[in-house]
Amino acid sequence: MMPERDPAVEWLVRDMRSHLRKRPKRHQLSDAGAYAFDLYETNTASMPTYELACKAGCGSCCAAHVGVEVAEAFAIVRHLHQTRTPDVFTALMARVAEIAAEVGELDPGTRWVKQVFCAFLDPDSQSCTIYPVRPLACRGYNSNDLDACNLSTANLDHDQPIPADAVRMLRAQQLRQALAEVTARMIDQDGMTDHAELHSALTAAHAADSELAWMRANKHG
Ligand code: SF4
Ligand code: SF4
Repeated sequence: MMPERDPAVEWLVRDMRSHLRKRPKRHQLSDAGAYAFDLYETNTASMPTYELACKAGCGSCCAAHVGVEVAEAFAIVRHLHQTRTPDVFTALMARVAEIAAEVGELDPGTRWVKQVFCAFLDPDSQSCTIYPVRPLACRGYNSNDLDACNLSTANLDHDQPIPADAVRMLRAQQLRQALAEVTARMIDQDGMTDHAELHSALTAAHAADSELAWMRANKHG
């Protein structure tokens, strides 16, 4: 028997595809990612925040594995092209590639023990330097217990239970599923495209000459 489809994901797929019909083909992937980021923010804007432990300047979780969809990676690379000078962009992508080589293939537990911080975490302010385009995984993960986070960091224990906001996490997961499905349809693939570790996905997106080139290279049939 086929598993039941989440009606929220179905709705998101329809909405994203309708939005993308008005967008130029050459930016379909990055536009899809940016649109998903906007949808997440709109959808969670009115949710209460009093139970959330996450605050600006708290970045110890930014050594954790972050998975992204292809469209998110292209949205981030496009943002970096638009907001960084060519020299800064080149240096940043070189650092991203180094981190991808070091931790891109590790399982989340091993990656956590290595404590290699995300290329986009500012070490002084402990803030995210790509906040407007940070991945859905980062947006959706909101701890309700700072002590549990600190314990996980102190003990390097990836399995430390950390109570997190379930509704925000679900919204982020639904948007990621919808993005993976929309991307699959762009390249005539059934189901969903694979996700990848953040730095690895960015390195692959940067290596593609363009979004159209990526779509041509990955087209099925
Ligand atoms: S998840 Fe934990 S470590 Fe990360 S920002 Fe929130 S409170 Fe801080
Ligand atoms: S993208 Fe930003 S929020 Fe996400 S892990 Fe990197 S620094 Fe942290």
